[in-house]
Formats: sequence, C-alpha cells, structure tokens
Amino acid sequence: MRKVVAVSACLLGVNCRYNGKNKLMKNLEDFLEKYIPIPICPEQLGGLPTPRPPASFYGGDGRSVLSGEAKIIDEEGEDITDKIINGCNISLYLIRLLGISTVVLKDRSPACGVERIWMGKDCVEGVGVLKALLESENIKVIKGDNL
Ligand code: SF4
Repeated sequence: MRKVVAVSACLLGVNCRYNGKNKLMKNLEDFLEKYIPIPICPEQLGGLPTPRPPASFYGGDGRSVLSGEAKIIDEEGEDITDKIINGCNISLYLIRLLGISTVVLKDRSPACGVERIWMGKDCVEGVGVLKALLESENIKVIKGDNL
C-alpha cells in the first residue's frame, strides 16, 4: 500500500519557486509507485507571491530563526521572516492534521532546506524553517532533490 507523504510542491512540478518555475524530481514515476504525495509550499502558504525575490538567512539557519536569533531577508531588503514562519506553521498544521509521518523537502530553500541553505551569498550547511519545525516534532524528513 502506498504511503501518504507531504512533498515540497515544486518537486512535484508546481511552479511555486521564487523564479516562477518548478524543480520536478527526476524519478517522479518511481516515486508515485511508492507514495501518495500531498503538495505543500510553505512560502506560498505564508502569503509570499510567485515569482518573488530570492531570499537568504542572516544570523543563522531555520533553527536560529525559530529561537529568534536569525532573520530571512529577500534580495530587495524586505524582512520576510514572519511570513516564512507562518507558512511553515500552517504546513506543520496540515501535516499533523493528515497524520503524515514522512515529509520530502527540496534542499537549499529558506523554508524547505534539508541539509544546506543560503546564508547571504554562500550556500552553507543548515536547515530551513520547516525542516527545523519537523525535526522538533520527530517527523521524518527526506531530501527530495535526488529522488
Ligand atoms: S518553499 Fe519549498 S515548496 Fe515552496 S518553492 Fe520553495 S522549496 Fe519549493
């Protein structure tokens, strides 16, 4: 029986990335044989438009954002920290509501980043805000980029 998982919507072909494009996962057909995906885009759920300016962390990663020590600022200088936190909280609410225990996320995103994130102009080790929330809830996260 296929398992229900939440998935970063851009990995499923939804054009919700900052640049108005998607990042369709390579082996979607194989993936769909094993899983029933529920698409989520925390940045859109937080009210950010598409397309939108790219954004990066300042002062720490998603864990530091949740502890109030870091911010997420977009390329035009707007502080979008609260919108991303809101969108990630809504995502977590939906994930809990649906009883989902595994989430597949796209790496290198302020919300979804699994192993790496953008800190200013540098791509460094760290997690996005949703990944930080999910790890605090003991919900399994899989990096979807290479699936
Ligand atoms: S927030 Fe997540 S789902 Fe939305 S575009 Fe960025 S990586 Fe994809």
